[in-house]
Amino acid sequence: MEEANSEFLNYKGTGMSVMEMSHREKHFLNILNESLADLRDLLELPSRYAVVYFPGGATLQFSAIPYNYLATGESADFAVTGVWAKKAFEEAKKFYPNVKSIFNGADSKYTELPTITDDLVNEGAKYVYITSNNTIYGTRYKTFPKLKKAPLFADMTSELLSRKLPIEDFSVIFAGAQKNIGPSGLTLVIYDKEKLPEQTHPIPNLMNYSLMEKNGSNYNTPPTYSIYIASLVFKYLKRKGGLAAMEAVNERKAKKLYDALDASSLFYATVPENFRSAMNVVFRSHNDSLDSKFLALAEEQGFAGLKGYRDVGGFRASIYNAMPEEGVDSLISFIKEFERTHG
Ligand SMILES: *Cc1c(COP(=O)(O)O)cnc(C)c1O
Repeated sequence: MEEANSEFLNYKGTGMSVMEMSHREKHFLNILNESLADLRDLLELPSRYAVVYFPGGATLQFSAIPYNYLATGESADFAVTGVWAKKAFEEAKKFYPNVKSIFNGADSKYTELPTITDDLVNEGAKYVYITSNNTIYGTRYKTFPKLKKAPLFADMTSELLSRKLPIEDFSVIFAGAQKNIGPSGLTLVIYDKEKLPEQTHPIPNLMNYSLMEKNGSNYNTPPTYSIYIASLVFKYLKRKGGLAAMEAVNERKAKKLYDALDASSLFYATVPENFRSAMNVVFRSHNDSLDSKFLALAEEQGFAGLKGYRDVGGFRASIYNAMPEEGVDSLISFIKEFERTHG
């Protein structure tokens, strides 16, 4: 943000803000193309994968994926592990009523994830859809399914770029930018070009994977300033040592916070150890009557957004890439102090 600030009015001596540039102008094209190349580097993407920017947030992909990958009457399997997975499933079902749920997280109040093997995959499923990190309930797949019967698709909105990934186990990965990448509204889609089916029906242009890819993420005016900010984030991550380095920091941050919660007599983490997210740490107190006091004091001391999701209650610490380790240390001290004075 400091870098963006310093060149906000005058990008590299052009006399223009990135915001003022045409999306066909050479400085912007450089930003766009370099950002895609940096992202390929970070993810170590094989050449058969396309990487494309889309508008419309992660939610647009809930519609775009079935449009691009299903023909009339076809089906896909969804692991419904949280709010976002459910939305994706319901959106697909609206247009392709044969899609199926292969796991219903409601049975465990969304604190557990399925072990997905080929046995669980329905005959004829064109893909298996997962949410790799469930932002609201704080669960994540520590390791990913390896499937032969159907390609694996994942919504990685709340964790892309936070850890190393076995890219080749996936055929589609997408992420809304706002958690780990950049400003909201921008979305990244990574897909295996060899697995994209022939188009059998019209697809709206702004959802059409091959059209957007052939036009280099520049079919219409893309969210240019958001792409510029994402480009700075990719360069920052490369300077920091890439995804392996981010993963080491993120695992350390999450572990110390979960350790503190496990050792607490007032607070507890709601998710069993093997499903715990490193990005979204969901916890509750044994004494609900202290919750509003805890939140008010937290806010007073500068801890923002600790309130749990509206249907979940309790607390959630989102500790994305941008949260420094010291921020987690401060939160742990705050939790301990609250426990000492109120527990
Ligand atoms: C935040 C989030 C979304 C929604 O993103 P929008 O950009 O608001 O559409 C979808 N999936 C996951 C996993 C998320 O965390």
